[in-house]
Amino acid sequence: MVTVNENYLKLPGNYLFSEIAHRVEAFREKNPGAAIIRLGIGDVTQPIAPAILKAMHKAVDEMGDSRTFHGYGPEQGYEFLRNVIAKEDFLSRGCQIEADEIFVSDGAKCDVGNIQEIFSLGNKVAVCDPVYPVYVDTNVMAGRSGNYNEKTGRFEGILYMPCTKENGFVPEIPKETADLIYLCFPNNPTGAAVTKEQLQAWVDYANKNGSVILYDAAYEAYIEGDEIPHSIFECEGARTCAVEMRSFSKNAGFTGVRLGYTVIPKELVRGKVSLHALWNRRHGTKYNGAPYIVQRAGEAVYSPEGKAQLREQIQYYKSNAAMILNGLTQAGFEVYGGVHAPYIWMKTPDGMSSWKFFDYLLSEAHLVGTPGSGFGACGEGYFRLTAFGSHENTLEAVERLKELR
Ligand code: PLP
Repeated sequence: MVTVNENYLKLPGNYLFSEIAHRVEAFREKNPGAAIIRLGIGDVTQPIAPAILKAMHKAVDEMGDSRTFHGYGPEQGYEFLRNVIAKEDFLSRGCQIEADEIFVSDGAKCDVGNIQEIFSLGNKVAVCDPVYPVYVDTNVMAGRSGNYNEKTGRFEGILYMPCTKENGFVPEIPKETADLIYLCFPNNPTGAAVTKEQLQAWVDYANKNGSVILYDAAYEAYIEGDEIPHSIFECEGARTCAVEMRSFSKNAGFTGVRLGYTVIPKELVRGKVSLHALWNRRHGTKYNGAPYIVQRAGEAVYSPEGKAQLREQIQYYKSNAAMILNGLTQAGFEVYGGVHAPYIWMKTPDGMSSWKFFDYLLSEAHLVGTPGSGFGACGEGYFRLTAFGSHENTLEAVERLKELR
């Protein structure tokens, strides 16, 4: 008889976003007229930019003509896309990343989730706390953790690195040795960014200990100023210890289109095995998950018109973030993030728990955000607001929050 992967059973049943949906639905049933504003979900709302749509339409037409039809694509993605990524995202910033070190995919979530498969189960995993849940969940499912401890809100066997207001939401280098280290900057959920110096310390640690850093740069497009690195490959020595994941979701609105990529330098070798070569054997290698039409859309992201149109979209979200940050600061709330990321991390007022504040906000202001405790034990007492709404809704939400003070 077939037996199941019991590691899946270690995951707690009440997933954060289904619990939110459940509570909002219950509130809506009791209050059918309430104008609920959602500042909780990490999905974008601006439509695909015209330059990208144009490229997609052209690619669709190519698919309908036998002379320009495309079947299975190259395993790492089309060269036209990998070349422009290498040039625009890396070489232009002084990072020596070659096009053949880039693996195109159908989004960062898949890569962030699947990358752990090329590492053995014996590796010690380190994650930030709070953290984007995919890193922990996928390692738990693979069997790289012990059981979930209800009391601590943590899995045994995982090394959690606290990100608190005291350390500016950037974790300290752990005293014990971690093998697989997940870092995400700018960060979801805290909105924190790292300086090059801070990131360099992680790269040095990883090289010294033979660890590998899995660097999630899904929010790179939101970085402001020169002191914040856009890529871990801006750090010296990163080519021998780091993998970087990127997404087209939050910079170009591809959450429904699906496109991302992972960079694995050829010098990244552990136990004489090239991680680049291992990742080439990953699931779905033949198809890489991203259709020709979508890869042409990705190429258009880097065209002059595409860049200009996307700059405007990102500015739109960033001005929402500024509106939330300034409004809540003026109202006397304690708020973080929101400058290099579309996320605002607020301290719940009067020491309320994250879920208590969720219920309070929903009933008193008809606002929906995300309880910080859903991202980890250190998120308790915090709340995440996102900048992906419309200006009108964001403004209205800020007014409602101010009225609560
Ligand atoms: N990484 C982080 C930190 C995210 O917050 C998200 C989405 O919210 C992703 C990755 C997923 O990106 P994608 O849409 O490319 O799968």
